[in-house]
Amino acid sequence: MTPLPKRRHSTRRGGKRKASIRQKLTGLVPCKNCSSMIRPHRICPNCGFYNGKEILKPKTPKAKK
Ligand SMILES: [Zn+2]
Repeated sequence: MTPLPKRRHSTRRGGKRKASIRQKLTGLVPCKNCSSMIRPHRICPNCGFYNGKEILKPKTPKAKK
């Protein structure tokens, strides 16, 4: 007989474990261009720069005339 769990874990117990995993996943690095905190290996949503080059035009311009 294989050992089997007698009862399923409560949602609270599973949620506590998931909360610690989600906390670890939030790794943020400062953008090289505008130094806002962004997710690594992604185009900056604030200025649209990646690897020192402008890839995307930012949706909201910083200074409106
Ligand atoms: Zn940026």
